[in-house]
Amino acid sequence: MSYVKGLKCRECGREFPKEALYVCEYCFGPLEVDYDYENIKKKLTRQVIESRPKNLWRYRELLPIDGEPTDGLKSGFTPLIRARNLEKVLGVKELYLKDDSVNHPTLSFKDRVVAVALSKAKEFGFKTVACASTGNLANSVAAQSAVAGLERFIFIPADLESGKVIGTLIYNPTLIAVEGNYDQVNRLCSEVATKYKWAFVNINIRPYYAEGSKTYGYEIAEQLGWRTPKHIIVPCAGGSLITKIWKGLKEFKNLGLINKVDTKIYAAQATGCAPIVTAIKENSEIIKPIKPNTIAKSLAIGNPADGMYAAATVKDSGGTAEDVTDDEIVEAIKLLAVTEGVFTETAGGVTLGVTKKLIEQGKIPKDEAIVVCITGNGLKTQEAVAKKIGRPIKIKPNIASFEEHVKL
Ligand SMILES: *Cc1c(COP(=O)(O)O)cnc(C)c1O
Ligand SMILES: [Zn+2]
Repeated sequence: MSYVKGLKCRECGREFPKEALYVCEYCFGPLEVDYDYENIKKKLTRQVIESRPKNLWRYRELLPIDGEPTDGLKSGFTPLIRARNLEKVLGVKELYLKDDSVNHPTLSFKDRVVAVALSKAKEFGFKTVACASTGNLANSVAAQSAVAGLERFIFIPADLESGKVIGTLIYNPTLIAVEGNYDQVNRLCSEVATKYKWAFVNINIRPYYAEGSKTYGYEIAEQLGWRTPKHIIVPCAGGSLITKIWKGLKEFKNLGLINKVDTKIYAAQATGCAPIVTAIKENSEIIKPIKPNTIAKSLAIGNPADGMYAAATVKDSGGTAEDVTDDEIVEAIKLLAVTEGVFTETAGGVTLGVTKKLIEQGKIPKDEAIVVCITGNGLKTQEAVAKKIGRPIKIKPNIASFEEHVKL
């Protein structure tokens, strides 16, 4: 049973069939999946959702596949953690982490979008999948397409962290390291995608792929007891996740699954790559592309595909945006580890660093519910912190050496 009507242009509203299309042939606007919400409303209740297995497919009527899901059957439904120690440090009353650093199978929120993209690519009959990635997408496409038995070509910038490279190569895909930044990789992939009949998950499958991000927002609402927090801080790369969290919450409201959406959305980026945050701060209608220079490589997209929509989301919700330096990112990674036991990657450092800043600036009040989006795992970006943490104390294997070297 499918609840997908087709695709619709985000700009001019023209309708298109549900095929591997992604751009409007009339106005070049991006295409988005259009659902039959009336029939979804008849089917999808809180009870129905709660009765299903704890993975992202529990919301399957709101995901763009026609048949049964085939991929990422264990992805999603990650913990929403009440961060009591962090609350004390930041001086706030109610703070949560939505922790995709433990998503299955590759420890980032990208496991959600890939689950949907591969299920859809198979429905379309593709035998080969591909992607342009800042790292986490590479890991997830490599892993999930290996399981699915698909051919795979993965394109990354050549200077990625070794954890992201090894975490891709272990699945034995064809990995292409391009001497250039992500924006150059992406441009190359757009050319490759027009020439070869492959499912590029974040290019020609993008309208379907991006819908997977909505589940991150659905889960926040469900796990809070079918309500939304007052504040959600979201890391931005291409700007898709932030847009889709907002879309997901509004869908839940329109379907009667939650009573209201009383939430401000905040965009978080690294100072060394903040085109979306800059546009929001300057109240500008256009996103000015920049050349990224930051340790937050997973967010290093200088020309974000959904940048304008991300900025519109923030504005629409009444939130704002902020950026943090590389030093602030490292400090935030360490703070999260020692308070909550969560080792996040640089993107999580960006989100928490920005949250801290917004609280200090008084832009997020201290007595309202806050959700911080932790989207990736710190074991993949170890070089970012390796020289900024303690060292082990080296001793001889005897008690005298132990007592000599360790202050008790
Ligand atoms: C890709 C990514 C994001 C942001 O995703 P967009 O939808 O491109 O904005 C955030 N965090 C991590 C860890 C990512 O890998
Ligand atoms: Zn159009």
